[in-house]
Amino acid sequence: MQRKGSQKEFVEFDAWAFARTGGSISSAEVKFDFPRIANDELIAKCDVSHWEVSGRINAQSESVLRFKGHFSVEMPCVVCSESVLYSIDFERHLVLQTSEAQADAYDEDTLDDHTDVVACPGAINLRDWLEDEILLACPMFPKHEGCADVAGRTWLDNDAPEDTDDYQDDTADGSISEVQRPFANLSDLLKTGKK
Ligand SMILES: [Zn+2]
Repeated sequence: MQRKGSQKEFVEFDAWAFARTGGSISSAEVKFDFPRIANDELIAKCDVSHWEVSGRINAQSESVLRFKGHFSVEMPCVVCSESVLYSIDFERHLVLQTSEAQADAYDEDTLDDHTDVVACPGAINLRDWLEDEILLACPMFPKHEGCADVAGRTWLDNDAPEDTDDYQDDTADGSISEVQRPFANLSDLLKTGKK
């Protein structure tokens, strides 16, 4: 049963209690709109077919939120500007910390590729966090397979990161700042808003 129009509980969402009690919600129960995705000028069309958020306490007694789901997205190719259609699965685990200082001090080398640490001092906007995950899962340099060779010369010669999941690398030396970087604003926002 969908609970349209009763989303207040997710705007000031107690992520800590959700993790502690092993909570779980999904697109089968709750309908979210994603206004930033809808208004993003680089996203021609995005259909989030499924999402789920669950909470747990891990083996280190930490509170963890897992965001998972599937969506299709149409974005303009960075080479030819024609639309490219992607079908994307996303999954990320966020280890909650009570303060920015704690999150910064966390040894992220102990975490796997699907896991990150975030400061979560109070209630969160769950829909916003989910929308962040979807935006971050979008390709940073969308391109057709046929355009990939051209793109290799154009982009990789510029030291652009091959790992497009590398959005949170604060140590980037700016060598890619001159190429078009979709969602650059989002990663700024994540740094200030989360960690
Ligand atoms: Zn193309």
